[in-house]
Amino acid sequence: MGYIEPAPLKDEKNPFEAMMSRFHIASQILGIDDEVYNVLKSPAKQVIVSLPITMDDGSIRVFDGYRVIHSNILGPSKGGIRFDPGVNIDEVKALAAWMTWKCAVVDIPYGGAKGGIQCNPREMSSGEIERLMRAYTLSMVEIFGPDRDIPAPDMGTGPKEMAWLMDEYSRTQGMTINSVVTGKPLVLGGSLGRTEATGRGVMVSALAAMEKLKINPYKATCAVQGFGNVGSFAALLLAERGVKVVAISDLSGAYHNANGIDIQAAIEYRNSNNGTLTGFPGAEMIGGDEILSLEVDVLVPAATEDVITSQNVESIKAKLIVEGANGPTSAKADNVINDKGIMVAPDILANAGGVTVSYFEWVQNRLGYKWTGERVNRRSDRIMKDAFDNVYNTSKEYNVSMRIAAYIVAIDKVAKTYKYRGGY
Ligand code: NAD
Repeated sequence: MGYIEPAPLKDEKNPFEAMMSRFHIASQILGIDDEVYNVLKSPAKQVIVSLPITMDDGSIRVFDGYRVIHSNILGPSKGGIRFDPGVNIDEVKALAAWMTWKCAVVDIPYGGAKGGIQCNPREMSSGEIERLMRAYTLSMVEIFGPDRDIPAPDMGTGPKEMAWLMDEYSRTQGMTINSVVTGKPLVLGGSLGRTEATGRGVMVSALAAMEKLKINPYKATCAVQGFGNVGSFAALLLAERGVKVVAISDLSGAYHNANGIDIQAAIEYRNSNNGTLTGFPGAEMIGGDEILSLEVDVLVPAATEDVITSQNVESIKAKLIVEGANGPTSAKADNVINDKGIMVAPDILANAGGVTVSYFEWVQNRLGYKWTGERVNRRSDRIMKDAFDNVYNTSKEYNVSMRIAAYIVAIDKVAKTYKYRGGY
C-alpha cells in the first residue's frame, strides 16, 4: 500500500520542531558541550541537484533532488528517499537527523540520512519515474555506496524504485552491488521479514511495555490508528499474542467492535477493497478521531504525524501509547501525557524495527547469504527488546519520560563516539 499524504498539522508548524525540541531537552540533561551540541544539530553534508527528465510527451522537465547526510559518526549513513511534491531541503534535513537518533537507539552501526525529489509520482508514468530515479542515482554516485550512504524507500517510493537505483548504481561500478540500497524486491537481495518488520517491532515494544506496566496481554485491549503497512501488521501480531484489538482506522474512518476485531479478516477485506476499510462488516463505524480517546489499555498511532496534540490529549484514556508512526505526538502534548502517567514507547524506539531489518538486508547482501525469516525475526526481536530495556532503564536513571530517555540514549552514543573519533 502506498503512503498517503499526512493530515494538516495541528500543533507543529514544522513536524520536526517536535523532534528538535526534544533533542534540546535531552542534550541539556546530558550536559552535552555546546561544541558537540552544534556538531550534532548540523548536517554533515547537503546535496541539491537539478534533474532534467524527458517526459512521455517529449517535453523536458527539471526536478529538484536532495540528499542530506546528517551524520556518519556511527557508520555509513542510512535513510529513505521520498517522492513528494512538498519535499524541501529543510524537511529532508530534519528527517535525516531523525534517522541518526533512530539508528543509535537500536544500536545499529549507521548514521542518519534522507533524500527526496520534489515530484508527484501519482501523476507520472512508470517510465517517467524510472528515468527520474536513474537520473537521481547517477547524480548521487559519489554520495551513495555500501560503505558511504545507503538509501531505502520512503513516502512515494518502494521496491521497484530501489531496484532501478541498484541497477543504475551497479552499472556505474561495472558490477552488481546490491548492498548499496535496502528495501529491494526479494529476488534482488531484499530481506525476508522486511515488509512486516516495523509492525513487528511495534508489537515487541508494546509487549515489553505491558510487562513493565503489569498489563496481561490476554486481558488487554488495544486501538490502532492507521491500517497500512505498520498498523495492520502491528494489529495482527498483537492479536496473535492475545491482545484484543477493539478498534482500527484508516482514512475512510474508524471501526469499533468491543468483542475484538478479526484482524486477519480486516486485512483480507482491505486487500480486496482497493486498500481501504470502507464498508468493513466486522465492526461498527465510529468518528475517525474517537479512536484516540477510547477506553483501551494500549493505543497505537500508526498513521501520520501530529495526531495527538494539545487539543485532544486530555481525552486520551489509554495507559500505554506505542508510536508506530513518525512524530504522532506533538511536543506540546508531551507534558500532559507525562502528568497523566501514560507510558509512551516513542517513535524513534517503537518503529525502529524497519530500519533494523534494513540493516539485516545490508548485512546479508555483504555476506552473500540469505537468512531465513525465522532468523531475521529472532534477531530483530532481540534488538528491539534490548533497545526497549535500555531506554526504560535510562528513563528510571534520569527520572525522565521514555521519549526523553530515547533521545538521551541516542545523543549520548553519538556524542561519545564523536569525542573518541575527534574533530579537526
Ligand atoms: P501506509 O501508507 O502503508 O499506511 C498509512 C495508513 O494510515 C493508511 O491506512 C491510511 O489510510 C491511514 N491514515 C492516514 N492518515 C490518517 C488519519 N489522519 N487518520 C486515520 N488513518 C489515517 O504507511 P505506513 O508505511 O504504514 O506508515 C505509517 C507511519 O509509520 C508513517 O508515519 C511512517 O512514516 C511510519 N513509519 C513507517 C515505516 C515502514 O517501514 N513502513 C517505518 C517507520 C515509520
